[in-house]
Amino acid sequence: MAIERTFSILKPDATRRNLTGKINAKFEDAGLSIVAQRRIQMTTAQAESFYGVHRERGFFRDLVTFMTSGPVVVQVLEGENAVLANREIMGATNPANAAAGTIRKEFAESIEANSVHGSDSAENAAIEIAYFFAGCDIPG
Ligand code: ADP
Ligand code: MG
Repeated sequence: MAIERTFSILKPDATRRNLTGKINAKFEDAGLSIVAQRRIQMTTAQAESFYGVHRERGFFRDLVTFMTSGPVVVQVLEGENAVLANREIMGATNPANAAAGTIRKEFAESIEANSVHGSDSAENAAIEIAYFFAGCDIPG
């Protein structure tokens, strides 16, 4: 297995409920290191572009409104098989289907306000990391 990086977002429902520490502990307990992290307020244009693949979906407008409804924490996570490992730590998109012990099972409020984003492939991880971080912001 290879050391990989993946991109993560702690969504507005998580920052609003002061859950960033508890969620970060899940990553670290599972062996992922937080190698870069920044708290930002996403603009509508940023959220629309970031979720552009979902533009035609019925939930797109609501999702953009939600992602801009409060601060988020954008992160780079690093570790063995980080992309897949993080998807497992996060749990299923719909918290009703998420496995016990996952972030979404424990913390998500709904299928939309589901506390975390995680890249779904190494290719998308590289694109998403580059969207929010300059190389010099990620210590080696
Ligand atoms: P994931 O975040 O697990 O990769 P998707 O990429 O399919 O899931 O969807 C992106 C985000 O859009 C989800 O995390 C969630 O916030 C929102 N979303 C997905 N499906 C729905 C839905 N049916 N209704 C409302 N929001 C949704
Ligand atoms: Mg996705």
